[in-house]
Amino acid sequence: MSITAYCVKCKEKRDMVDPQEVDMKGGRKAMQGKCPVCGTKMFRIMGKPKAEGMAGGMPSAPAAME
Ligand SMILES: [Zn+2]
Repeated sequence: MSITAYCVKCKEKRDMVDPQEVDMKGGRKAMQGKCPVCGTKMFRIMGKPKAEGMAGGMPSAPAAME
């Protein structure tokens, strides 16, 4: 499974190398990996992996960074 993320160095979207799931504040998931071209760390917020209840009551809309 490949995760595409934006590389700030290449200024392009790339497939992450060695993507790892990480937990963020607020219970969100993100994927962290490396750019296959320049090796820069990449980070992609995955938002909600699945709708598993609406506990918390945060009025946060998913931030689309496309
Ligand atoms: Zn890069």
